[in-house]
Parts: sequence; C-alpha cells; structure tokens
Amino acid sequence: MKYYSTNGKAPIADLHKAVVKGLAEDRGLYMPERINKLPKEFFDNIEKMSFQEIAYTVASAFFGEDVDLDALHDIVYDTLQFDCPVVNVKDDIYTLELFHGPTLAFKDVGARFMARLLQYFIKQENNHKEVNVLVATSGDTGSAVANGFLGVDGIHVYVLYPKGKVSPIQECQFTTLGKNITAIEVDGVFDDCQALVKNAFMDAELNEHMKLTSANSINVARFLPQAFYYFNAYARMKEQGKADNLVMCVPSGNFGNICAALFGHEMGLPIKRFIAANNANDIFYKYLQTGKYEPKPSKQTLANAMDVGDPSNFARIYDLYGKSHEKITSIISGATYTDEDIKQTMRECYKASGYILDPHGACGYQALKDGLKDGETGVFCETAHPAKFKEKVDEILGIDVEIPERLAAFMRGKKQSVAMTKDFADFKAYLMKQ
Ligand SMILES: *Cc1c(COP(=O)(O)O)cnc(C)c1O
Repeated sequence: MKYYSTNGKAPIADLHKAVVKGLAEDRGLYMPERINKLPKEFFDNIEKMSFQEIAYTVASAFFGEDVDLDALHDIVYDTLQFDCPVVNVKDDIYTLELFHGPTLAFKDVGARFMARLLQYFIKQENNHKEVNVLVATSGDTGSAVANGFLGVDGIHVYVLYPKGKVSPIQECQFTTLGKNITAIEVDGVFDDCQALVKNAFMDAELNEHMKLTSANSINVARFLPQAFYYFNAYARMKEQGKADNLVMCVPSGNFGNICAALFGHEMGLPIKRFIAANNANDIFYKYLQTGKYEPKPSKQTLANAMDVGDPSNFARIYDLYGKSHEKITSIISGATYTDEDIKQTMRECYKASGYILDPHGACGYQALKDGLKDGETGVFCETAHPAKFKEKVDEILGIDVEIPERLAAFMRGKKQSVAMTKDFADFKAYLMKQ
C-alpha cells in the first residue's frame, strides 16, 4: 500500500517510511491510497469473533500487504491483552469502555501497536541504529506512549513534561518505568516541552548524532489501530441484538480516534452516523455549521485531553470526504459543551444510572442524550477511566472513586526523572551525551 500526503507536495511513501517519519516532508499527514472493504461474511459473523480476532482481520486489510502476516498477528495479539466491552448506561445509550488498557486510556492501543510496528520495520534496515522517540506531554499521551514502548528493544523514549503541571497520577505512569523510558522534567509549561521537541527534530547536528522520531496521533500506526475498537463495538452490540441504526459518538480533541472510526466506516462497518463531541474547544463544531475551518488557541477545560484549538486529524477527515462539507455533514454531526454542562451531565448520569463518567466521556453521553433520534441506538466512547481524573470526579460527584490496582501499582513506584531547563541548548547538550 502506498501513502500520500494530505498536502499533496511530498513524494508517495510506503508504510515503512510513513511509520518511521510520522509527518510527510510537506508537513501533511499520510493517507493510504486505498481503503479496502471487508467482505459481507465478516460482518455476518462478527458477533461470534473475539476482539483480538476482529482486530487481526481489520489490521490485515490495512497493513497485510506490507507486514508479514505472522508478525502482524503477533503485533495485534501483543497489543490487545485487554477487553473493550460495551455497557448499557441508560435506555438506548451504551458506552464503549476504551479504558481497560495498561494506562487506562484508549491511546494504549495505538501506542503499543506503533511501538511494535516501528520495531518490526527498523529490524529490516541494514545496520540499524537505535531509534529515539521524543514526546512532549501534558499528561495522557506521555503515559500511553511510555507504556506502549516499554521494553521494546531498539527504541528509546524521552518523555518531556512540564514540572508541577501534570497530575500526580499521570506523572507516575511515565516516571516510574525505567528501562528504555527516560522522563524529562522541564522547568516550564507544556508549550516549552513541545518547542524543545520541535527544535530537536530540526537540529541537523543532533539528527546526525541520533535517529529521532515522534509518536503522536499524526502517525498512521498510532491512529489507525483505534479502528479495532469500533468493529468490536458493532460486534458486541450485534451480540445483544442492538446493532441496527447505530450512532457512534466520539469525544474528540485531535480527532485521531473519530478519524479511525470513519476509516472503519469506509471499510464497510455498518454505523448509521457519527457525532463528534467537543468541550468548549468548538473549532470542528463551528466548521460543521459554517463550512469554515478556523483554528484558535486552545481553551483550558475540565476535559483537558480534548483542549485542542487546531485538531491535526481534521486534514485527514477533510481529505477522506474529498474536501466536501456536504459529505462531511451528511455523516458527522457535532456537539460542544462548557465545563458547567460537563459537571451537570456527570451528576445527572450518576444520579439516574449510577454510572461514573469522566469529564471526556460526559461530553459523549450528553451529545447522545441531546442528539439521538427515534429508532436509533447510541454508543459513546468512554475514553478514560474516571480514576485518572480522580480529584475532579470526586469533587463533582461528591464520591471517592476507587483507584484500580493497575493504577495504584504505578503510584507505589519510585519516581525518576532528569531535570531540564526550557533552554534548547541544555536539552541538546544532554541528548548529544546519550
Ligand atoms: C486523547 C484523548 C481524547 C481525544 O482523542 P483524539 O483522538 O485526540 O480526538 C479524549 N479523551 C481522552 C481521555 C484522551 O486521552
């Protein structure tokens, strides 16, 4: 399979190059030149298949031309050592719980899959050098990437995070791991961390010294595996006889997750329509209303993993539907919620059903409550376990959310990090010594 850039000015790439480079030379995002449809028999029997079996079928359709099938089987089964159940919340509203992975966030799937696929490709290179992944994080991405890449030989990960600006629960998920994961505590804010990473990619001397790459959702190996979730959602709903007229609602920030769902739809997944649920960062919502895409600086909200003012995967969605506003609005609608709305939704849902929403999932639940029509069944993604946002959830609901053992285990680990200034010269000097 060949991959082209959404900006149309970079050379066509193969999967190997798209995964190792992440972003195309013209700063566009890589898109597969074809999306293979899955056969009718697959959908006819999907409810009898496990999450892992479904994922392997989907992965083969995307990557089967470029990755040895036995290796791909290993990568999928190694990535998916957890479940992704569908749970009824209230009436016709179900939730797809995407938080049963190692760091209790949906990004675990893409992070692990990408780590293993990157490893597969670099092993094929002649006298391959160690690859260094640089990732700036305000919390969730760092923990998923660090855990996804943990123990994967041939790859070292540097997680840069702002000192004192990451919640203690999130911090321990990437500072206690050791092995091939180095946490770098930057005396600055998130934007300083991101600037250090960007400068590193542009520094010729540093790139001569070491092989550098990134691991955010612009990478095809990170966002595409999220499509597995949506095929599984359909299968589990079909098992319950509830698969007709399904509406899928995805709380969105950079739009990687919903983009994967839309790729699934193009492969034939029978979902009737999609809703992108946003917090107060309403750039996509506004685009749907007006046809104009106008990025803005991000606003801080309760659902902070969705605080994005210029969603990077918009370019992919736009390209997928031939840049047609009409096509996009015929399949996706939007919703936007303030922090006050989010709090009220969390309280209402807890009171009515006992289900504890996290602030991100709350946007999804409310969008279905507001947007579901007669005869439709809604499934929203619960994108993180509520314990990951314990301080907020406890305060809003007046409860004491139980911390799952997996999370508690991280919190018992010993914090290790490298102190760094926000000055690029210091960061570069440190990397030159590695
Ligand atoms: C990353 C994240 C999102 C947003 O996902 P995108 O793929 O960026 O749209 C939503 N909720 C949580 C908890 C996240 O970590």
